[in-house]
Amino acid sequence: MPGFEIFGEEEKKEILEVLDTGVLFRYEFPEQRKGVYKVRTFEEKFAAYCGVKCGQAVTSGTAALKVAMAALGIGPGDEVITQGFTFVATWEAILEIGAIPVFAEVDETLNLDPADLEKKITAETKLIIPVHMMGAPARIEEIKAIGDKHGIPVLEDTAQAAGASLNGRRLGSFGACGTFSFDPVKTMTTGEGGMIVTNDEKLMRDMSEYHDHGHDHAVNPGGRGGEGRSFIGSNYRMMELQGAIGLAQLAKLDGIVASQQQNKKAMKALVARIPGVTFRTILDEKGDNASFLAFFLPDKDKAQKVKTALAAGGAGAICFAENTWHYYPKWEHLLAGATLAKSGWPFVEPGGKKRVVYDAQALPKSAAIMDRLLVYPVPIKLSQERLGQIAAAVEKAVAALS
Ligand SMILES: *Cc1c(COP(=O)(O)O)cnc(C)c1O
Repeated sequence: MPGFEIFGEEEKKEILEVLDTGVLFRYEFPEQRKGVYKVRTFEEKFAAYCGVKCGQAVTSGTAALKVAMAALGIGPGDEVITQGFTFVATWEAILEIGAIPVFAEVDETLNLDPADLEKKITAETKLIIPVHMMGAPARIEEIKAIGDKHGIPVLEDTAQAAGASLNGRRLGSFGACGTFSFDPVKTMTTGEGGMIVTNDEKLMRDMSEYHDHGHDHAVNPGGRGGEGRSFIGSNYRMMELQGAIGLAQLAKLDGIVASQQQNKKAMKALVARIPGVTFRTILDEKGDNASFLAFFLPDKDKAQKVKTALAAGGAGAICFAENTWHYYPKWEHLLAGATLAKSGWPFVEPGGKKRVVYDAQALPKSAAIMDRLLVYPVPIKLSQERLGQIAAAVEKAVAALS
């Protein structure tokens, strides 16, 4: 599953090239850096890999969401629709930018349900964020068409789906932009880091300036200190060491996906022995980055029995319905509106009126799906020993159901 499994000599070599120059900053120092621009090169190569024109590297996947939303003009008063099965970062970023997250259902793709999305659109909806969870595509073509029909841009949260595609086109390249994360547990990692990809050059320029304190990046004989500003920015710059690691990991990405696809196939063949088991809807098997094997039991009771048996057998599966980081009813701090701000922001607006009230029962369709779901992470390196463990655990599950 994560790129750290194969961290090695290639990453070291890239890092040493940076250390040899002593320049850790992505800009400036033209003489000292001897032509080494790791972050810039990583942006160019990652964008090319995704089949788009531009890439903007940032400090994290969360920062990628924030920088992209800022450049798309999202702010207070705006509603942003996303799904109730995602990592907390998606709605953290929406709230931090001052907008309001509106949660929609997922379907058996485990991604945004287009029918429910359309029901949740209001006059205030300014952005749609489908999340390609666990390396496999949302119904992005349908979602994009709905966005187009209503004149609402689509930002793809592609944090978990580097290397994945739908019908030959990379995830992240369908909407106005796509955001990626390279945190330690993602398909490829730079320790911390993120990227936004887009074909929109104006959006790219705004993201580039926003993420760098508003620097206008115009050619300026006075250097960075002489650059002007068109708007307020902030700092989400990636450093050269991360860019270097990113280049080494990107070169391994297709190999990572190929290994995971093979390992997923072997694991799926074992899990398929469980009576009544069905698998997550994958819109394009070839485009799956295969980081996870997600399967359903016929009902919650059977899912619980299988979960218990697999754990007892030494190969426990993740039950996302109980996971507190990825599933709406488990976000107690969101539901309670817990914040450090004494004013209550972002859950309470100046003056004391509540901006948002979330109800744990608001997504019944997602709940019915999540209650039946179990998930195995798929490693890049799958030993025969581990496969044997899974096989033995599956036999326990088969026995538990009979
Ligand atoms: C990991 C993740 C993020 C955030 O990325 P970080 O680099 O950890 O900030 C955003 N969205 C999803 C769906 C993620 O899985």
